[in-house]
Amino acid sequence: MPRRTKIVATLGPATDDPEVMDALLDAGVDVVRLNLSHDSHDSHRARAEQVRESAARKDRMVGLLMDLQGPKIRIGKFAHGPIELFRGERFAIDTACPLDAGDQFRVGTTLPSMIDDVAPGDTLLLDDGAIELSVEEINGQRIECLVTIGGTLSNNKGINRKGGGLSAPALTEKDKADIRFAAEIAADYLAVSFVCNGDDVRLARELFQEAGGSGGIVAKIERAESLRALDDIIDASDAIMVARGDLGVEIGDAELPAVQKHLISLARERNCVVITATQMMQSMIENPIPTRAEVFDVANAVLDGTDAVMLSAESSIGKDPPKVVEALDRICQEAEKHVRRSAHRIDAVFGRVDEAIAMAAMYTANHLGVKAIAALTETGSTVKWMSRISSGIPIYAMTRQVPTRRKVTLFRGVYPVSFDVSSTDIHEVNREVIEEMLRRGTVREGDLVIITKGDRSGVEGQTNIMKIMRVGEHKLLTTD
Ligand code: PGA
Ligand code: MN
Repeated sequence: MPRRTKIVATLGPATDDPEVMDALLDAGVDVVRLNLSHDSHDSHRARAEQVRESAARKDRMVGLLMDLQGPKIRIGKFAHGPIELFRGERFAIDTACPLDAGDQFRVGTTLPSMIDDVAPGDTLLLDDGAIELSVEEINGQRIECLVTIGGTLSNNKGINRKGGGLSAPALTEKDKADIRFAAEIAADYLAVSFVCNGDDVRLARELFQEAGGSGGIVAKIERAESLRALDDIIDASDAIMVARGDLGVEIGDAELPAVQKHLISLARERNCVVITATQMMQSMIENPIPTRAEVFDVANAVLDGTDAVMLSAESSIGKDPPKVVEALDRICQEAEKHVRRSAHRIDAVFGRVDEAIAMAAMYTANHLGVKAIAALTETGSTVKWMSRISSGIPIYAMTRQVPTRRKVTLFRGVYPVSFDVSSTDIHEVNREVIEEMLRRGTVREGDLVIITKGDRSGVEGQTNIMKIMRVGEHKLLTTD
């Protein structure tokens, strides 16, 4: 059985060696992520070319996800190097302080307007929560704070307000330029950081499409506000990312597990793909094996029903990225053996014919002992619905559309197959589908398979047929 949960790996200096890239694909990476918070367009372009070249050589489909930096709010720089802050001291975020003129008593910020968003009693978290400040008063341009957790503070560290509420627009000028770049590179997914609501997602999609992009949009859930607009965000997105790093800073680490479970189940329910991200294999940046806690974290995300698990620094700057992917692969496959069959949508009302076919196929597959599902698809919407239902049965997305084959690399339990319907005869098409699966060794004589398709192949959103066939009997099909 192939692994169902997909693996997303961030590229970086540690994956630039062509041998490492090849090994990464051999280990089973499904989607690569380019993180636009770092590095130049030229280096991202080179990485995109490298991964596509390697995938083509191996006859593999690998999706490409480009992740926007977003309006991460930061402090400025210190004129004389890092400072030490001690509990009980006073320190100010000074919105009038030049960005390079911080000192022991104050530092500037990339979002001067934050002065309007904070009030005495607020907690500000610097450097992902490593340093904590309590706001005492607003004094002209200065946010006067008391240090409640001290430490070393260096240049450009992030600032979050506990509970959210720092109102930076979701797309910066850099993000807009990066969106055009993502379109130029033909990214399969564009991830939007720090979204607040569905409008942020819709704006990103509009700009991406204007620039000629056709990939899916991933909303990163990493602000407290986004949790209050989930339905709208999910409906506007092709996928969401549980971005546990920033989210944990804003809502508190202890709240994360319940939020992750809620996000995964809500996404699946609303026909959205979901990626679980950040620190899943953190110790493997350095170490050859994960901690037990990391093994449990990955397995739990799989049991929760995530489509994909993601590596950040573990692969981009880690010691041995392919080894991390091998560990993920092992843990996911083992956890998948213990997933229960879905009762999702058992009493839902379906809105579309292709959705109804997808649900009927999954219900039948799960209850009839079917070996595989072959979905003839143009845009991948049928297989997306199918993959929202828990099942151990592989779903083959058979299409001539390369962008669709790349897109489905992110969907749980879905595998892209290059397939061109060459005949207009329905029996001939069924025969070809089964022959293709036999060639791939995914089914054997006597196995039951489900085929879904439309009356008119090659047309979007037209799936209206579910056919159950026994391998072997397909040879007896005759055309009358
Ligand atoms: P980032 O997003 O790696 O771009 O910060 C993920 C997260 O915040 O967890
Ligand atoms: Mn983040």
